Amino acid sequence: MEAVKLLKEDEVIGMPTETVYGLAANALSEIGISKIYSVKNRPQDNPLIVHVSSLSMLESIMPDNRIPPIYLPLLEKLWPGALTIIVPKADIIPSAITCGQPTVAIRFPSHPVARALIERCGFPIAAPSANSSGKPSPTLASHVMDDLNNRIPLILDGGQCDFGVESTVLDGLRNPPAILRPGGCTYEDIQKLPGMEKLQVYRKHFVDKQLEMMPTTPGMKYRHYSPEAAVVLFEHPVDGSNGRDTVAAIQKEIDRLIEAGQQNLKVGVLHTSDEFQDLSDNKAQIISQQMGRASHPEEVAKAMFVGIRHLDSQGVDYIFIEGISEDREGMAVMNRLRKAASTIIQL
Ligand code: AMP
Ligand code: MG
Repeated sequence: MEAVKLLKEDEVIGMPTETVYGLAANALSEIGISKIYSVKNRPQDNPLIVHVSSLSMLESIMPDNRIPPIYLPLLEKLWPGALTIIVPKADIIPSAITCGQPTVAIRFPSHPVARALIERCGFPIAAPSANSSGKPSPTLASHVMDDLNNRIPLILDGGQCDFGVESTVLDGLRNPPAILRPGGCTYEDIQKLPGMEKLQVYRKHFVDKQLEMMPTTPGMKYRHYSPEAAVVLFEHPVDGSNGRDTVAAIQKEIDRLIEAGQQNLKVGVLHTSDEFQDLSDNKAQIISQQMGRASHPEEVAKAMFVGIRHLDSQGVDYIFIEGISEDREGMAVMNRLRKAASTIIQL
Protein backbone atom coordinates (compact mmCIF):
# COMPACT_ATOMS: atom_id res chain seq x y z
CA MET A 1 0.00 0.00 0.00
CA GLU A 2 2.94 2.28 0.74
CA ALA A 3 4.39 1.56 -2.71
CA VAL A 4 1.04 2.23 -4.40
CA LYS A 5 0.71 5.51 -2.54
CA LEU A 6 4.18 6.64 -3.69
CA LEU A 7 3.50 5.67 -7.30
CA LYS A 8 0.24 7.61 -7.23
CA GLU A 9 2.24 10.62 -6.04
CA ASP A 10 4.54 10.35 -9.11
CA GLU A 11 7.42 8.87 -7.13
CA VAL A 12 9.74 6.15 -8.41
CA ILE A 13 10.40 2.95 -6.46
CA GLY A 14 12.30 -0.34 -6.81
CA MET A 15 10.15 -3.37 -7.63
CA PRO A 16 10.95 -7.05 -8.15
CA THR A 17 10.05 -8.77 -11.40
CA GLU A 18 10.86 -12.28 -12.61
CA THR A 19 13.55 -10.88 -14.97
CA VAL A 20 15.48 -8.18 -13.05
CA TYR A 21 14.52 -5.49 -10.52
CA GLY A 22 12.68 -2.57 -12.12
CA LEU A 23 12.67 1.15 -11.37
CA ALA A 24 8.93 1.78 -11.40
CA ALA A 25 6.85 4.90 -12.06
CA ASN A 26 3.37 5.67 -13.40
CA ALA A 27 3.73 5.17 -17.18
CA LEU A 28 1.08 7.81 -17.83
CA SER A 29 2.78 10.49 -15.71
CA GLU A 30 5.30 12.83 -17.35
CA ILE A 31 6.75 13.63 -13.91
CA GLY A 32 7.19 9.98 -12.94
CA ILE A 33 8.84 9.21 -16.28
CA SER A 34 11.29 12.09 -16.04
CA LYS A 35 12.27 10.93 -12.54
CA ILE A 36 13.14 7.47 -13.92
CA TYR A 37 15.57 9.04 -16.38
CA SER A 38 17.21 11.27 -13.79
CA VAL A 39 17.46 8.67 -10.98
CA LYS A 40 19.16 6.13 -13.25
CA ASN A 41 21.05 8.72 -15.20
CA ARG A 42 19.58 7.07 -18.30
CA PRO A 43 20.27 8.54 -21.75
CA GLN A 44 17.20 10.51 -22.88
CA ASP A 45 16.88 8.57 -26.12
CA ASN A 46 16.60 5.07 -24.60
CA PRO A 47 12.89 4.17 -24.48
CA LEU A 48 11.13 2.51 -21.52
CA ILE A 49 9.06 -0.67 -21.32
CA VAL A 50 5.48 -0.28 -20.08
CA HIS A 51 4.22 -3.01 -17.72
CA VAL A 52 0.57 -4.08 -17.51
CA SER A 53 -1.21 -6.55 -15.23
CA SER A 54 -3.91 -7.82 -17.61
CA LEU A 55 -4.85 -8.05 -21.27
CA SER A 56 -7.67 -5.59 -20.68
CA MET A 57 -5.15 -3.06 -19.34
CA LEU A 58 -3.12 -3.66 -22.52
CA GLU A 59 -6.21 -3.07 -24.68
CA SER A 60 -6.99 0.12 -22.79
CA ILE A 61 -3.66 1.65 -23.88
CA MET A 62 -3.82 0.46 -27.52
CA PRO A 63 -5.02 2.63 -30.42
CA ASP A 64 -8.70 1.62 -30.91
CA ASN A 65 -8.23 -0.88 -28.05
CA ARG A 66 -6.92 -3.35 -30.60
CA ILE A 67 -3.99 -5.75 -30.07
CA PRO A 68 -2.17 -6.56 -33.37
CA PRO A 69 -3.36 -10.11 -34.26
CA ILE A 70 0.21 -11.38 -34.90
CA TYR A 71 0.75 -11.30 -31.12
CA LEU A 72 -2.35 -13.18 -30.02
CA PRO A 73 -0.91 -16.74 -30.10
CA LEU A 74 2.20 -15.49 -28.26
CA LEU A 75 0.29 -13.72 -25.55
CA GLU A 76 -1.80 -16.81 -24.97
CA LYS A 77 1.27 -19.04 -24.49
CA LEU A 78 3.95 -16.72 -23.13
CA TRP A 79 2.19 -14.08 -21.04
CA PRO A 80 2.51 -13.24 -18.26
CA GLY A 81 6.27 -13.63 -18.66
CA ALA A 82 9.62 -12.40 -19.91
CA LEU A 83 8.37 -11.34 -23.35
CA THR A 84 8.06 -7.66 -24.35
CA ILE A 85 6.12 -6.80 -27.52
CA ILE A 86 6.39 -3.71 -29.74
CA VAL A 87 2.98 -2.22 -30.58
CA PRO A 88 1.70 1.03 -32.12
CA LYS A 89 1.69 3.87 -29.57
CA ALA A 90 -1.64 5.41 -28.56
CA ASP A 91 -1.85 9.13 -27.68
CA ILE A 92 -2.41 8.32 -24.00
CA ILE A 93 1.23 7.10 -23.74
CA PRO A 94 3.53 10.10 -23.17
CA SER A 95 6.13 10.43 -25.90
CA ALA A 96 8.86 10.54 -23.20
CA ILE A 97 8.27 6.77 -22.80
CA THR A 98 9.05 6.02 -26.44
CA CYS A 99 11.51 8.88 -27.04
CA GLY A 100 9.29 10.15 -29.80
CA GLN A 101 8.90 6.86 -31.66
CA PRO A 102 5.51 5.76 -33.02
CA THR A 103 5.74 2.38 -31.25
CA VAL A 104 5.81 1.39 -27.60
CA ALA A 105 7.22 -1.71 -25.84
CA ILE A 106 4.85 -3.56 -23.46
CA ARG A 107 5.20 -6.46 -21.05
CA PHE A 108 2.96 -8.35 -18.64
CA PRO A 109 5.26 -9.56 -15.83
CA SER A 110 4.51 -12.81 -14.01
CA HIS A 111 6.05 -11.82 -10.67
CA PRO A 112 3.24 -11.76 -8.08
CA VAL A 113 4.53 -8.57 -6.43
CA ALA A 114 4.83 -6.69 -9.72
CA ARG A 115 1.38 -7.86 -10.81
CA ALA A 116 -0.26 -6.92 -7.54
CA LEU A 117 1.42 -3.53 -7.57
CA ILE A 118 0.22 -2.64 -11.09
CA GLU A 119 -3.24 -4.02 -10.35
CA ARG A 120 -3.56 -1.93 -7.19
CA CYS A 121 -2.32 1.20 -8.94
CA GLY A 122 -4.82 0.74 -11.75
CA PHE A 123 -2.40 2.30 -14.26
CA PRO A 124 0.46 0.80 -16.29
CA ILE A 125 3.97 1.09 -14.86
CA ALA A 126 7.10 2.11 -16.76
CA ALA A 127 10.14 0.27 -15.46
CA PRO A 128 13.67 -0.05 -16.82
CA SER A 129 16.18 -2.05 -14.81
CA ALA A 130 16.76 -0.49 -11.37
CA ASN A 131 20.53 0.05 -11.72
CA SER A 132 22.57 3.15 -12.52
CA SER A 133 22.82 3.32 -16.28
CA GLY A 134 25.75 1.27 -17.59
CA LYS A 135 26.07 -0.96 -14.50
CA PRO A 136 25.23 -4.68 -14.30
CA SER A 137 21.50 -5.31 -13.92
CA PRO A 138 20.10 -5.76 -10.39
CA THR A 139 18.78 -9.20 -9.52
CA LEU A 140 18.63 -8.73 -5.73
CA ALA A 141 17.02 -5.89 -3.77
CA SER A 142 20.46 -5.17 -2.27
CA HIS A 143 21.80 -4.44 -5.78
CA VAL A 144 19.17 -1.71 -6.13
CA MET A 145 20.20 -0.38 -2.73
CA ASP A 146 23.89 -0.37 -3.76
CA ASP A 147 23.18 1.66 -6.91
CA LEU A 148 20.27 3.91 -5.97
CA ASN A 149 20.35 4.25 -2.18
CA ASN A 150 19.10 7.73 -1.16
CA ARG A 151 17.77 8.41 -4.63
CA ILE A 152 14.47 6.53 -4.24
CA PRO A 153 12.10 6.38 -1.27
CA LEU A 154 11.33 2.65 -1.31
CA ILE A 155 12.44 -0.76 -2.62
CA LEU A 156 10.14 -3.77 -2.49
CA ASP A 157 12.25 -6.84 -1.72
CA GLY A 158 10.96 -9.88 -3.59
CA GLY A 159 14.09 -12.00 -3.19
CA GLN A 160 16.32 -13.11 -6.05
CA CYS A 161 14.91 -12.75 -9.58
CA ASP A 162 14.05 -16.08 -11.19
CA PHE A 163 15.41 -15.37 -14.67
CA GLY A 164 18.22 -12.95 -13.86
CA VAL A 165 18.24 -11.38 -17.36
CA GLU A 166 15.89 -8.80 -18.89
CA SER A 167 12.90 -9.62 -21.06
CA THR A 168 13.08 -10.58 -24.73
CA VAL A 169 12.02 -7.61 -26.89
CA LEU A 170 10.07 -8.84 -29.93
CA ASP A 171 9.06 -6.69 -32.89
CA GLY A 172 6.17 -8.55 -34.53
CA LEU A 173 5.25 -5.48 -36.59
CA ARG A 174 8.26 -6.28 -38.78
CA ASN A 175 8.11 -8.86 -41.52
CA PRO A 176 9.60 -11.31 -40.70
CA PRO A 177 9.24 -10.76 -36.93
CA ALA A 178 12.47 -10.04 -35.09
CA ILE A 179 13.95 -10.30 -31.61
CA LEU A 180 15.53 -6.89 -30.97
CA ARG A 181 16.97 -7.98 -27.65
CA PRO A 182 17.36 -11.61 -26.55
CA GLY A 183 16.15 -12.23 -23.00
CA GLY A 184 14.42 -14.54 -20.56
CA CYS A 185 11.88 -15.83 -23.11
CA THR A 186 13.84 -18.01 -25.53
CA TYR A 187 14.09 -17.90 -29.34
CA GLU A 188 13.23 -21.61 -29.36
CA ASP A 189 9.96 -21.04 -27.47
CA ILE A 190 8.84 -18.11 -29.64
CA GLN A 191 9.86 -19.58 -33.00
CA LYS A 192 7.60 -22.62 -32.69
CA LEU A 193 4.42 -20.52 -32.37
CA PRO A 194 2.10 -19.67 -35.32
CA GLY A 195 3.35 -16.70 -37.38
CA MET A 196 6.86 -16.92 -35.87
CA GLU A 197 8.32 -19.54 -38.24
CA LYS A 198 10.69 -17.02 -39.86
CA LEU A 199 11.70 -15.34 -36.61
CA GLN A 200 14.99 -13.45 -36.85
CA VAL A 201 17.40 -12.13 -34.24
CA TYR A 202 18.85 -8.66 -34.54
CA ARG A 203 22.62 -8.69 -35.21
CA LYS A 204 22.60 -12.47 -35.80
CA HIS A 205 20.36 -12.57 -38.90
CA PHE A 206 20.27 -8.94 -39.97
CA VAL A 207 21.45 -5.46 -39.09
CA ASP A 208 19.67 -2.23 -39.71
CA LYS A 209 21.63 1.01 -39.74
CA GLN A 210 18.57 3.09 -38.96
CA LEU A 211 17.66 0.91 -36.00
CA GLU A 212 21.23 1.12 -34.79
CA MET A 213 21.15 4.93 -34.78
CA MET A 214 17.68 5.12 -33.26
CA PRO A 215 18.77 3.25 -30.07
CA THR A 216 15.45 1.42 -30.02
CA THR A 217 17.36 -1.45 -28.66
CA PRO A 218 19.45 -1.24 -25.54
CA GLY A 219 23.09 -1.79 -25.49
CA MET A 220 23.20 -1.20 -29.21
CA LYS A 221 24.31 2.34 -28.67
CA TYR A 222 25.44 2.67 -25.06
CA ARG A 223 27.88 0.92 -22.75
CA HIS A 224 25.99 -1.66 -20.73
CA TYR A 225 26.18 -4.16 -17.88
CA SER A 226 29.70 -3.07 -16.88
CA PRO A 227 31.15 -3.48 -13.37
CA GLU A 228 34.15 -1.45 -12.09
CA ALA A 229 36.52 -4.35 -12.83
CA ALA A 230 37.45 -5.04 -16.46
CA VAL A 231 35.56 -8.04 -17.82
CA VAL A 232 37.43 -10.59 -19.96
CA LEU A 233 35.17 -13.08 -21.71
CA PHE A 234 36.52 -16.50 -22.72
CA GLU A 235 34.34 -17.75 -25.57
CA HIS A 236 34.10 -21.35 -26.67
CA PRO A 237 33.86 -21.94 -30.44
CA VAL A 238 30.31 -21.38 -31.76
CA ASP A 239 30.28 -24.83 -33.37
CA GLY A 240 29.91 -26.29 -29.87
CA SER A 241 33.32 -27.97 -29.84
CA ASN A 242 35.37 -27.66 -26.69
CA GLY A 243 38.19 -25.56 -28.11
CA ARG A 244 41.19 -24.75 -25.95
CA ASP A 245 41.21 -25.58 -22.30
CA THR A 246 39.66 -22.67 -20.38
CA VAL A 247 41.95 -23.03 -17.38
CA ALA A 248 45.07 -22.96 -19.58
CA ALA A 249 43.80 -19.86 -21.40
CA ILE A 250 43.02 -18.11 -18.09
CA GLN A 251 46.46 -18.97 -16.72
CA LYS A 252 48.07 -17.62 -19.88
CA GLU A 253 46.16 -14.34 -19.57
CA ILE A 254 47.17 -13.99 -15.89
CA ASP A 255 50.83 -14.58 -16.80
CA ARG A 256 50.55 -12.03 -19.60
CA LEU A 257 49.10 -9.37 -17.26
CA ILE A 258 51.84 -9.96 -14.66
CA GLU A 259 54.54 -9.83 -17.32
CA ALA A 260 53.05 -6.56 -18.55
CA GLY A 261 53.81 -5.16 -15.08
CA GLN A 262 50.47 -5.54 -13.24
CA GLN A 263 51.23 -5.54 -9.48
CA ASN A 264 49.21 -7.33 -6.78
CA LEU A 265 46.90 -8.72 -9.41
CA LYS A 266 43.51 -9.77 -8.06
CA VAL A 267 41.28 -11.72 -10.43
CA GLY A 268 37.72 -13.00 -10.05
CA VAL A 269 36.80 -16.01 -12.16
CA LEU A 270 33.24 -17.05 -13.05
CA HIS A 271 33.30 -20.43 -14.74
CA THR A 272 30.65 -22.69 -16.19
CA SER A 273 32.52 -25.97 -16.61
CA ASP A 274 31.77 -28.63 -14.02
CA GLU A 275 35.34 -29.74 -13.75
CA PHE A 276 37.35 -26.64 -13.17
CA GLN A 277 40.92 -26.94 -12.06
CA ASP A 278 42.03 -25.12 -8.94
CA LEU A 279 43.80 -21.86 -9.80
CA SER A 280 44.75 -20.95 -6.24
CA ASP A 281 48.47 -21.78 -6.57
CA ASN A 282 49.12 -18.63 -8.52
CA LYS A 283 51.15 -15.43 -8.68
CA ALA A 284 47.86 -13.56 -8.70
CA GLN A 285 45.19 -13.65 -6.02
CA ILE A 286 42.24 -15.61 -7.45
CA ILE A 287 38.62 -15.79 -6.31
CA SER A 288 36.83 -18.35 -8.44
CA GLN A 289 33.24 -19.55 -8.37
CA GLN A 290 30.87 -21.48 -10.60
CA MET A 291 28.22 -19.37 -12.35
CA GLY A 292 25.82 -22.28 -13.03
CA ARG A 293 26.46 -25.23 -15.33
CA ALA A 294 27.06 -24.68 -19.06
CA SER A 295 24.53 -27.42 -19.81
CA HIS A 296 21.86 -25.46 -17.86
CA PRO A 297 21.80 -21.96 -19.40
CA GLU A 298 18.91 -20.91 -17.14
CA GLU A 299 21.22 -21.40 -14.14
CA VAL A 300 23.89 -19.24 -15.74
CA ALA A 301 21.37 -16.49 -16.57
CA LYS A 302 20.17 -16.43 -12.97
CA ALA A 303 23.67 -16.39 -11.44
CA MET A 304 25.45 -14.09 -13.90
CA PHE A 305 24.77 -10.59 -12.57
CA VAL A 306 24.91 -11.72 -8.91
CA GLY A 307 28.34 -13.23 -9.61
CA ILE A 308 29.65 -10.16 -11.41
CA ARG A 309 28.43 -7.78 -8.71
CA HIS A 310 29.76 -10.00 -5.94
CA LEU A 311 33.26 -10.16 -7.43
CA ASP A 312 33.22 -6.43 -8.11
CA SER A 313 32.46 -5.79 -4.43
CA GLN A 314 35.58 -7.84 -3.55
CA GLY A 315 37.68 -5.25 -5.35
CA VAL A 316 39.11 -7.49 -8.08
CA ASP A 317 41.01 -5.86 -10.97
CA TYR A 318 39.58 -8.24 -13.56
CA ILE A 319 36.59 -10.54 -13.86
CA PHE A 320 37.29 -13.50 -16.14
CA ILE A 321 34.13 -15.19 -17.38
CA GLU A 322 33.74 -18.48 -19.22
CA GLY A 323 31.02 -18.18 -21.88
CA ILE A 324 28.40 -20.77 -22.86
CA SER A 325 26.69 -21.76 -26.12
CA GLU A 326 23.86 -19.59 -27.43
CA ASP A 327 21.13 -22.17 -26.94
CA ARG A 328 17.98 -21.13 -25.09
CA GLU A 329 18.82 -18.61 -22.28
CA GLY A 330 22.44 -18.81 -23.50
CA MET A 331 21.57 -16.31 -26.24
CA ALA A 332 20.64 -13.64 -23.67
CA VAL A 333 23.62 -14.54 -21.47
CA MET A 334 26.14 -14.16 -24.30
CA ASN A 335 24.47 -10.95 -25.51
CA ARG A 336 24.98 -9.38 -22.05
CA LEU A 337 28.49 -10.77 -21.52
CA ARG A 338 29.76 -9.54 -24.90
CA LYS A 339 28.52 -6.06 -24.02
CA ALA A 340 30.04 -6.19 -20.53
CA ALA A 341 33.42 -7.43 -21.78
CA SER A 342 36.29 -5.12 -22.60
CA THR A 343 38.23 -8.07 -24.04
CA ILE A 344 37.02 -11.26 -25.69
CA ILE A 345 39.38 -14.24 -25.92
CA GLN A 346 38.39 -17.03 -28.32
CA LEU A 347 39.10 -20.47 -26.91
P1 AMP B 1 15.46 -1.77 -20.08
O1 AMP B 1 16.35 -0.61 -19.90
O2 AMP B 1 16.17 -3.03 -19.74
O3 AMP B 1 14.14 -1.66 -19.50
O4 AMP B 1 15.23 -1.87 -21.65
C1 AMP B 1 14.21 -1.20 -22.32
C2 AMP B 1 14.45 -1.54 -23.74
O5 AMP B 1 13.25 -1.92 -24.42
C3 AMP B 1 14.92 -0.38 -24.58
O6 AMP B 1 16.24 -0.06 -24.37
C4 AMP B 1 14.65 -0.93 -25.95
O7 AMP B 1 15.56 -1.88 -26.34
C5 AMP B 1 13.38 -1.65 -25.78
N1 AMP B 1 12.32 -0.77 -26.24
C6 AMP B 1 11.56 0.03 -25.51
N2 AMP B 1 10.70 0.70 -26.27
C7 AMP B 1 10.92 0.31 -27.54
C8 AMP B 1 10.35 0.66 -28.80
N3 AMP B 1 9.36 1.53 -28.89
N4 AMP B 1 10.86 0.07 -29.89
C9 AMP B 1 11.86 -0.82 -29.79
N5 AMP B 1 12.43 -1.20 -28.64
C10 AMP B 1 11.97 -0.63 -27.52
MG1 MG C 1 18.75 -1.98 -18.26
